[in-house]
Amino acid sequence: MSDAASEVVGDGKVVSIEYVLTDPSGEELDRSGEAPMAYLHGGHGIVPGLEEALHGKTVGESLRVEVPPGKGYGEKGKVKPQRVLRSHFPPDAPVEKGAQFLMRGEDGRPIPIWITKVMGREVYVSPEHPLAGVTLCFDVTVKAIRDATDEERAHGHVHGPGGHHHHDDDDDDDDGDDDD
Ligand code: ZN
Repeated sequence: MSDAASEVVGDGKVVSIEYVLTDPSGEELDRSGEAPMAYLHGGHGIVPGLEEALHGKTVGESLRVEVPPGKGYGEKGKVKPQRVLRSHFPPDAPVEKGAQFLMRGEDGRPIPIWITKVMGREVYVSPEHPLAGVTLCFDVTVKAIRDATDEERAHGHVHGPGGHHHHDDDDDDDDGDDDD
């Protein structure tokens, strides 16, 4: 018997959190939406420093976590932005500074890139997150914890409310999750 109150954040759990993210000066950078954000613990869906801090926490616990860049979105300035022609993006894509896209790496894995600059037909992209180099201050509350489904474990991310905006290409498994 496991009642919800005894659930502890650990690998293979789907954890729902409310959070406010600020930089060290207190400027708000991001926050969870109306519904808590759900992530798969151990799946590296959130920055490593936050995932580590949440390990072992229980529902209702609130904490403030300061995550250095090395455990956040990485150090800044390790890579030079690369130039890509506008024509490589879909015609209707929102090609503007800060927009994120997925590129296929040589091994076929999707690699996130961000647009750093647009100059006419030339677009500069970088694999560096816009928050690289920034110390992240999270005020976070654990709202819910549950076991991940087998499918979620296999995919490495959460399905359903608060979770992954599902794959837009090859699979269509919205009806495939039966809890346990
Ligand atoms: Zn999935």
